[in-house]
Amino acid sequence: MTNPARVIAYGGGVQSTALLVLAATGRINFPVFLFANTGNDSEDPATLEYLQRYAKPYATAHGIELHELHRTRRDGTVETLWGRLTRAGSRSLPIPVRMSNGAPGTRSCTSDFKIRVLGKWLKQHGANRDKPATVGIGISLDEIERVNRRRAMPYEIPVYPLLDHDPPLRRHDCARIIAAAELPIPPKSACWFCPLKPPRRWGEMRRDRPRLFRSACELEVILNARRRALGKDPVWLSRYDRPLADAIPAAQQTLPGLDADTGGLCDNGSCFT
Ligand code: SF4
Repeated sequence: MTNPARVIAYGGGVQSTALLVLAATGRINFPVFLFANTGNDSEDPATLEYLQRYAKPYATAHGIELHELHRTRRDGTVETLWGRLTRAGSRSLPIPVRMSNGAPGTRSCTSDFKIRVLGKWLKQHGANRDKPATVGIGISLDEIERVNRRRAMPYEIPVYPLLDHDPPLRRHDCARIIAAAELPIPPKSACWFCPLKPPRRWGEMRRDRPRLFRSACELEVILNARRRALGKDPVWLSRYDRPLADAIPAAQQTLPGLDADTGGLCDNGSCFT
């Protein structure tokens, strides 16, 4: 059985991919990486492509176990976040949709589709209150405030290998580590419809992936039809109290390398943003 003692919560983004390179090259001791997939219809397709094309082969080539985990129902079938969100007749609103004041509402997606999925695997592999697993989280120095938002589960001890590194590593250091391993820099990882996505990234999606953007607009329509039927206020995927299609212009072209967005979303594998 796999040794659960030391794992990385792999989110598929820059920080946790840097951890993959550090582990693969013997600079940190984490033989197991766990990617909790919210659904092949829910994770950003670019993240899933990176996972299949680069992260998994790289991990295998370097003797690292990279497991892709899914949320399963009692009967063993996979439940996806998109499936839960769009199920006919559902009243469930698991993602942090934006209310009229622009603030995100409460969410259950992180807990149900990331933390519990990881936790289930850890417990199945022997982690418990008396023998907690060490879980490495990819938080870099430039987003250190996120450390405090992470509540440890009883079966785990969270650690922060990028911060423990001497010197502590920033996001651009992570990108350098990945490039030195001759891997492409991974895209931002999160569900493609995540309402925590900053406006600039919605604009980039509208410009670069118009079909995906249209699907996000359609999701707003589905959710609001349901809300109307229940006599509730509308909710939105952006912070502007109106439909995405009205609120978000297509982004201007930016030069490669000038991306200053460090919003982490689910990069670190548990989306405790
Ligand atoms: S990326 Fe957003 S929608 Fe997806 S699980 Fe994380 S918080 Fe929820």
